[in-house]
Amino acid sequence: MRFRQIHAAWKRESIPLTWTIETRIAIDGPVGAGKTTVGRQLADRLDYRFLDTGLMYRALTRAALDDGIDLDDEPAMAVLAGAGRIEYRFSPDGGLSVDIDGEDATILLRTADVDRGVSITAALPAVRAILVARQREIAGEASIVMVGRDIGTVVLPDAELKIYLTASAEERARRRHEESMKLGIDGTYDEILSATLRRDRIDSDRAASPLMQAEDSVLLDSDNKSVRQVVDEIVELAESRR
Ligand code: C5P
Repeated sequence: MRFRQIHAAWKRESIPLTWTIETRIAIDGPVGAGKTTVGRQLADRLDYRFLDTGLMYRALTRAALDDGIDLDDEPAMAVLAGAGRIEYRFSPDGGLSVDIDGEDATILLRTADVDRGVSITAALPAVRAILVARQREIAGEASIVMVGRDIGTVVLPDAELKIYLTASAEERARRRHEESMKLGIDGTYDEILSATLRRDRIDSDRAASPLMQAEDSVLLDSDNKSVRQVVDEIVELAESRR
């Protein structure tokens, strides 16, 4: 229930006393800026749900690759997106698990083939329309921290707080390289830097909902800041707006 609807309902004297206002915090930014780590911790602190919308584009890419569907075949991708074969489950810790055809596919969503293909999937307007509708439905259910590329600009343009989280490309590639090494995934720093820049370029140059900072968002640069510091800053902003 949004403020305007509540206000309208209140004016009609039909608002029950128990209704609460859900709060939406939108976090957008380029590849590897720390949105997922920051968003998850922020949601924990505030006791909100957390939705990493990148996983939804990744799940669709995974399913298409497995079925041999061409990622830029827009009609086929839209059919797949709308087929109900991909299900999102919120786990008790607030995280998101993704099932494809009834099987938990969450750990298969960050593989190199998905990384390479996901920006192609995400550039398709018909696919975005379907996923954005689902994201809005989820946002209507409970207070939420939602992270992605177009949350503040397209998905939740009236979110109560919008953050554009960024960091230098070198720092973002350094962090991803460190994560890859921990996970035992191959890839040199230089390869990761060029893949990061390539994905940012496709995400920023696409016609459909390109990555850009919403005018009414707060820009946070996470270079030289710990996750804790960034989360603290956002909590302070959220509290100051209550
Ligand atoms: O955030 P993550 O790197 O997992 O996102 C994977 C890709 O999904 C992004 O590079 C982008 O192409 C796409 N995406 C998007 N809009 C969102 C979230 C992700 O286009 N809201």
